[in-house]
Amino acid sequence: MVDTDALHAWIREFARLVEQHQDLLTELDSAIGDADHGANLHRGMSAVVEVLRAETPSTPAELFKRTGMTLVSTVGGASGPLYGTAFLRMSATAGEAETLDAGDLAKILRAALEGVVTRGKAQAGDKTMYDALAPAVRALEEAVGTGQPLAEALDAAARAAERGREATTAMIARKGRASYLGERSAGHPDPGATSVTYLVVAAATALA
Ligand code: ADP
Ligand code: MG
Ligand code: MG
Repeated sequence: MVDTDALHAWIREFARLVEQHQDLLTELDSAIGDADHGANLHRGMSAVVEVLRAETPSTPAELFKRTGMTLVSTVGGASGPLYGTAFLRMSATAGEAETLDAGDLAKILRAALEGVVTRGKAQAGDKTMYDALAPAVRALEEAVGTGQPLAEALDAAARAAERGREATTAMIARKGRASYLGERSAGHPDPGATSVTYLVVAAATALA
């Protein structure tokens, strides 16, 4: 079971990874986009860390809601509304719960993925954050379905996200700015698939 404090630690660990890899995210976005993904997400996650520090929410739903609303209002670009919607869907799915078990976390990440799809209409193979998040959610659901403990289930999800991220390298972008490049977008990993992998890796670190 994870409580609001543990989920808060997850968000902070994600913010830490985004800060640590900010330059890489921007480099990846400079190859196939407009070189702002690292700055966009770092600005957003720094604001989130501040908001949650100033007034720490008392429930998972409130924690995710504050996170999503802050991302929507600070990130800009395609990734702001996408990450924002993901966290707002997580909030709605958490409902009144005070603690979440592995099955709840799988449902919450499934809802995040559905939010990304509702917002951005991405499908598998479009070379977006979907291509890392979707396999992670699937791996988490499978691990939970076979009764694996939370730590192992999140580890499986993190490995699946990483493999999904790597698979975006060969893909030709069909969504977002990178799609303007057509075939020239191939040969570079997708920035959003990379940052969302940090989100899943952070869960495996902070919630296990
Ligand atoms: P922008 O492209 O507006 O500068 P960012 O650089 O912050 O925004 O984010 C780019 C990332 O957003 C891409 O690498 C991709 O993963 C993701 N993205 C863009 N469009 C979509 C979409 N329609 N659906 C899902 N993800 C998308
Ligand atoms: Mg960009
Ligand atoms: Mg931009």
